[in-house]
Amino acid sequence: MRRAATGTRKRPSAESPPPVVGHGAGTVCTKLVGGWPWSPYATCHEAFTAKEEPDVSQNITLTIDGNEREVTQGTTGAEFYFEAREIVVMRVDGALQDLSRELVAGTTVEGVSIDSEDGLNVLRHSTAHVMAQAVQQLRPDAKLGIGPYIADGFYFDFDVEDPFTPEDLKTLEKMMLKIVNQNQRFERRVVTPAEARELMAEEPYKLILLDKADAADESGEGVSVEVGAGETTIYSNVDRKSGDVVWCDLCRGPHLPNTKLISNAFALTRSAAAYWLGSEKNKQLQRIYGTAWPTKEALKAYQERLAEAERRDHRKLGSELDLFSFPDELGSGLPVFHPKGGIIKREMEDYVRDRHVENGFQYVGTPHISKDGLFHTSGHLPYYADTMFPALRVDEERDEDGNITKPGQDYRLKAMNCPMHNLIFRGRGRSYRELPLRLFEFGHVYRYEKSGVVHGLTRVRGFAQDDSHSYVTKEQAPAEVEHLLTFMLSLLRDFGMDDFYLELSTRDPESDKFIGSDEQWAEATEVLERVATESGVKLVPDPGGAAFYGPKISVQAKDAIGRTWQMGTVQYDFNQPARFGLEYQAADGSRQEPVMIHAAKFGSIERFLGVLTEHYAGAFPAWLAPVQVRAIPVAEAFNDYLAEVVAKLRAQGIRAELDDASDRFPKKIRNASKEKVPFVLIAGGEDAEANAVSFRYRDGEQDNQVPVDEAVERIVAHVRNRVNTDHV
Ligand SMILES: [Zn+2]
Ligand SMILES: [Zn+2]
Repeated sequence: MRRAATGTRKRPSAESPPPVVGHGAGTVCTKLVGGWPWSPYATCHEAFTAKEEPDVSQNITLTIDGNEREVTQGTTGAEFYFEAREIVVMRVDGALQDLSRELVAGTTVEGVSIDSEDGLNVLRHSTAHVMAQAVQQLRPDAKLGIGPYIADGFYFDFDVEDPFTPEDLKTLEKMMLKIVNQNQRFERRVVTPAEARELMAEEPYKLILLDKADAADESGEGVSVEVGAGETTIYSNVDRKSGDVVWCDLCRGPHLPNTKLISNAFALTRSAAAYWLGSEKNKQLQRIYGTAWPTKEALKAYQERLAEAERRDHRKLGSELDLFSFPDELGSGLPVFHPKGGIIKREMEDYVRDRHVENGFQYVGTPHISKDGLFHTSGHLPYYADTMFPALRVDEERDEDGNITKPGQDYRLKAMNCPMHNLIFRGRGRSYRELPLRLFEFGHVYRYEKSGVVHGLTRVRGFAQDDSHSYVTKEQAPAEVEHLLTFMLSLLRDFGMDDFYLELSTRDPESDKFIGSDEQWAEATEVLERVATESGVKLVPDPGGAAFYGPKISVQAKDAIGRTWQMGTVQYDFNQPARFGLEYQAADGSRQEPVMIHAAKFGSIERFLGVLTEHYAGAFPAWLAPVQVRAIPVAEAFNDYLAEVVAKLRAQGIRAELDDASDRFPKKIRNASKEKVPFVLIAGGEDAEANAVSFRYRDGEQDNQVPVDEAVERIVAHVRNRVNTDHV
């Protein structure tokens, strides 16, 4: 076997332009594409392609896609998968690798197709490289930040003088398409840190990443995409005709074999400012977001999903329907509910509270703040200090000179209700006869979410958890988990969400952050798993995803357009009962520690209201709708007639109103439709003569001349039975 020379950097001759170190891509490499005769990468490039000369006399054996295969030594993944065009990368003993790498004896290899999750990620990250190449052509002094794949797409950060404009994005898309059509090769090269520094000399941010790699520091948003996991690698884009390296980047890879595979199924979606490594202490860079798909059809379908999601965006609907808002004066993530949103919220709370009481929960109440010692007792501090608001110091007294004469006391806005419920449990002696004891409230909690992640009602800083804590004996725990899970799923169904799966989060046996004994974890995990399996709902494992104090089941619900939302959780707690010294007297007179199980059914009322707004696209079921019936006379002459119908409905508790404004009839119908009122009742001459009304539903269908008493009865039954569909 002969090892090819690893290549030393060729010294440029006297006539050559000065050597350019690093890709400095915008300036040098682009000119190379245009045919500049000298390439600083000439030798570099040879080294890139140099590989071990295969010893063809020898065959190797390995497992490929589940079968034992014999191939000639030196065969690359690309050669093996030559005919399987959808395979764009391979998984070797569990780790993704470029197809250009040689197959190794004894390994297990799987081909990864472009439309699988890993394949899509590789496609998207490769598209990010193509975008960065285009950016450095358009803005030669752009310095590269980080460019990872994300859900449905990718981004890349750049240090540039001026932010990108929408026109820039259009130009960049065109430039990218050119690069795609050039069918450039993606090439991987393992380099020493010193070589990497030399190649990246003009990229200050990449040099910082290399320093982080040296320090084995993967902290910072996106860092692990570029460095870490052993080898330092550079990925280059190589022009197929000239063989020149036209662009390169420090990157862990893997990548597609070539740019052609990106096809025309990509789009740049938006640009925004972003701090280097996600920290506001660092410089602000400019980020471009994009998306990429295996086919134009898949891209189109994605764009349609986005448009649909935008149409349903609860922040937009919340303002259009006058439900809630987020006043700047209050601060980030602190919503207010307007009268109409207040109706929906109250209906939800009333119903959820009643259902809890029916199911054996006792409604309690606790304050919004407490001495911070309570959260040290519970163990939330200092563990969750980052997500709690800073302490408020009160009761401190000072003399005229400012010397403290009486030390103050730190209070905290509560971020969780459990410590307070524990105090209620501990408030007096407890007997086994009282168990299961279930305490429930809409507990207002405050969490210090970074203002960048706050989002509408779904990620807020202050919210009401529909929170319960069950205290049970060890023997009662399985039945209690079943009770909580069944209850939670039935509540979701009551609100019209019936497509969900469960996620079982367990501990990582390797990690030492988890408290509780092996038996406790094994038992609790077994209980959760058995109950979840028996529920018949699909169960997805989440190994290592548990909180440090116990395993949990969470409910993931799909909305009307197939998006998944994390809803409630059933959470074991091996931590707090001991920390609070909770106990009850058992039947034999001994003192025992109860098992504590936390359960939030929707997570929070605010978040669930946000999810429901999007699920129903603002067209809430009648029982939740702020206005349930709008009566619209065909002409003014029927105002009085309909006013009587409205009065009958109101007497039955229906939120009905008469539109007796001076607008014309079609305008009134349009208004009701815009406000997404479930039932429009119309009356004209024939209706009045027959003592009837005509229904007009939200889907435009009509039900003509229904006798008034029957119409009232049908609406009342529909609302009382909380029917989630429209027709009565
Ligand atoms: Zn990369
Ligand atoms: Zn709790």
